[in-house]
Amino acid sequence: MAQEFPTQARVVIIGGGIIGCSVAYHLTKLGWTDVVLLEQGQLSGGTTWHAAGLVGQLRSHANMTGLIRYSTQLYSELEAETGLATGWKNCGSLAVARTSDRMTVLKRTAASARAQGVAVEVISPREAADLWPVMAMDDLVGAVWLPGDGKANPTDLTQSLAKGTRNRGARIIERVRVTGITVKDGTVRGVETDRGDIAAEIVVNCAGQWARKVGLMCGVTVPLHSAEHMYIVTGKIEGVHPDLPVLRDPDGYIYFKEEVGGLVMGGFEPEAKPWGMNGIPDDFEFALLADDWDQFEILMQNALVRVPQLETTEVRKFYNGPESFTPDNNFILGEAPELRNFYVGAGFNSMGIASAGGAGRALAEWIVNGAPAMDLWPVDIRRFARFNNNPRWLHDRVKETLGLHYAMPWPNRELHTARPFRRSPLYDRLASKGACFGSKMGWERANWFAEAGQRPETDYAFGRQNWHEAVKREMNATRQAAGMFDQTSFTKLLVQGRDAAKALNRICAADVDVGIGRSVYTGMLNKRGGYESDLTVMRLAVDRFLIVTGSAQAVHDADWIRRNTSPDAHVTLTDVTSAYAVLALMGPNARDILGRITSADLSNAGFPFATIREIDIGYATAYANRMTYVGELGWELIVPSEFAVGVYEALHQAGRDLGLVDCGYYALEVLRIEKGFRAWSRELTPDINPHEAGLAFAVSFDKPGGFIGREALMRAKQAGAPVRRIVQFTLDDPEPMLWGGELILRDGKPVGEVRSAAYGHTLGRSVALGLIEDRGGVDREFIVSGRFEIDLAGERHPATAHLKCPYDPKSERVRADVGEPRAAA
Ligand SMILES: Cc1cc2nc3c(=O)[nH]c(=O)nc-3n(C[C@H](O)[C@H](O)[C@H](O)COP(=O)(O)OP(=O)(O)OC[C@H]3O[C@@H](n4cnc5c(N)ncnc54)[C@H](O)[C@@H]3O)c2cc1C
Repeated sequence: MAQEFPTQARVVIIGGGIIGCSVAYHLTKLGWTDVVLLEQGQLSGGTTWHAAGLVGQLRSHANMTGLIRYSTQLYSELEAETGLATGWKNCGSLAVARTSDRMTVLKRTAASARAQGVAVEVISPREAADLWPVMAMDDLVGAVWLPGDGKANPTDLTQSLAKGTRNRGARIIERVRVTGITVKDGTVRGVETDRGDIAAEIVVNCAGQWARKVGLMCGVTVPLHSAEHMYIVTGKIEGVHPDLPVLRDPDGYIYFKEEVGGLVMGGFEPEAKPWGMNGIPDDFEFALLADDWDQFEILMQNALVRVPQLETTEVRKFYNGPESFTPDNNFILGEAPELRNFYVGAGFNSMGIASAGGAGRALAEWIVNGAPAMDLWPVDIRRFARFNNNPRWLHDRVKETLGLHYAMPWPNRELHTARPFRRSPLYDRLASKGACFGSKMGWERANWFAEAGQRPETDYAFGRQNWHEAVKREMNATRQAAGMFDQTSFTKLLVQGRDAAKALNRICAADVDVGIGRSVYTGMLNKRGGYESDLTVMRLAVDRFLIVTGSAQAVHDADWIRRNTSPDAHVTLTDVTSAYAVLALMGPNARDILGRITSADLSNAGFPFATIREIDIGYATAYANRMTYVGELGWELIVPSEFAVGVYEALHQAGRDLGLVDCGYYALEVLRIEKGFRAWSRELTPDINPHEAGLAFAVSFDKPGGFIGREALMRAKQAGAPVRRIVQFTLDDPEPMLWGGELILRDGKPVGEVRSAAYGHTLGRSVALGLIEDRGGVDREFIVSGRFEIDLAGERHPATAHLKCPYDPKSERVRADVGEPRAAA
């Protein structure tokens, strides 16, 4: 008997592609069976059905690799559970390099893959050709072999997940279109459909390339845009057999896999073709776009180089299907900051089949626990703001993001499309002074300043890049005279109200219920004791706090504060980022320079470290916060935007004979690493607690009322030496460049990875902050007794671990000036 259409459910999932089915499957596995999945057409009929089905494990972030490793495990076991085949074949994969730079990438990836437990071998072109006999190998430099990779049949996999879901009692209903989302008091209440309304506690948007539109139904930002994505299927080719590994040739933008004795050949061309500018048709089901051989040409040409037999092989089918891409090529996961209980799992950038198992489980855990179970920041929905949803911007950006899959992943690679996007009031001034801009959270930020006659453009390389000397100059100025950094991109949040002090003190690990005019460096911790953010809280009045936090954390931190503040509390939060520019004046001459244009007392007694005052600067009135992110005397000047240019000019005039120099983010980054200052999302993550980070001194364990994460921290403290720790390293050899992501070895065994690194000109060598782990505990003895090395693309370089920061200004005056700790990133 046909079941009645439901009128309520605990969870409604919108979209029956592989992602929606995986979320449903994992919810039921976690015991939540009152789940209804709605699909407007038939299961897998959106994008999923025509995917090539490649499942490659390697990602640049360990937790992301972990998600796909779980996918491979699930896909290999699912048939035994459900009785429905998934087409999973553990055929392994090869990635080949045509250039030595690409080989460096492969070797770097191989080293970190090993640290993540992924089986990988660096092999010669000959060995690669033995594994893949139909390829031409003369132009190759080398390859890596990943025996754990594989391929699956996307439609079968989706059906198998759906069967597992139904077996545990959840409902999947096809041919139902969600037409609206019901909302009350900022919380989702259910969905409207073309067959009636369903009330629900939780709604999950897994609508693939329709997810942006579904988000707009309820004011939720899901920034994605479709692009055409193509592959061909050939007739039979001699030597191609069912066990042939997947082959990736990223320098040619292409991949291959076996299919019925022929090859599937597709790729990621450098300039993609956006699609769906006027919206995605609702009835775009099991549909394809027209063949586009012109767009495919660059892939075809490269494929002929790799597999010459293609010249004489018939092309049986051309698949051109649209897929959704995001502004940074990572998918979008999590609870929407704009609407409680509304979750999103979308924007899979042509990695949805590989990611579905892990991403589906991660989202299900997030729903059931109300929080992610691990650091998922690279895919967290809160990394985007509402301005990222601008359709014209998305259209221009996805032209680039599709190609990023196989583009050279230079360590400091910047995206170049759809820029400039957000500009500081000083943008033109800095541009005229030779700034080479990078981009973060949409902001154009000066990375480094070119000398007269030098091109302000970065030439990428794994060794020293063309800004090496520029950064040295900027660092030296900051350490010896003064540097000025435009940190306008920093997020500024104003938290006000009668209960603001109480609410913030519960959310922050340090005591922020301090006297007016005090600045406090603190973490915001989750229940596991891990860092949700690190920031500076400045008390402006009894009931008013200004928070300065990282540029990328605006939406995330505001969301964290809001969701951890009782709705009854008298507290408001306003993002005032656009209202203020931030100019950081840093260096031993900072006091003399600022002193020339302010009447404020800047002495240590009159303006001590970790205090904030409203002062006059030139004609402006601005906040000056005595903090440092570079380990020198200095002030962060928080200036109303319209006064920023005036303050900038006045400071330069005052600093002309005192060595004041414009400095960029590359210098800022290495100045902080030399000083051992940790940065959120690098050293400080939701998985790392203050004991592990070496920042327990910035936690106020005994403050009245406690704080979120205290219990977990106390347990961790009682457990003894942490099993992992952030440690500072320098390379013994002054030549090599470290970039971050490199493998760390102790006594020849992998123990961790570099989280941040740069060339420290003050120290005269590369300097790094790394996370090292040992089950027996990482105590002082473990660090001092070990022989450390850092693996640089297969070469091991001796490194020294530092228990104390190696950059230690000798002068007592500087020590008194600098203070501890420091301001936010
Ligand atoms: C040519 C090509 C090759 C690819 N190759 C690979 C590969 O080798 N490996 C890999 O990992 N990935 C690959 N992908 C990517 C992969 O196919 C996608 O990432 C994945 O299928 C996305 O799944 P999804 O569930 O998010 O979207 P979809 O499969 O599109 O599912 C979303 C569903 O939501 C439904 N829906 C939308 N709006 C509503 C509504 N209002 N009400 C009800 N239902 C709604 C749609 O009908 C649709 O079925 C490829 C993609 C393409 C185009």
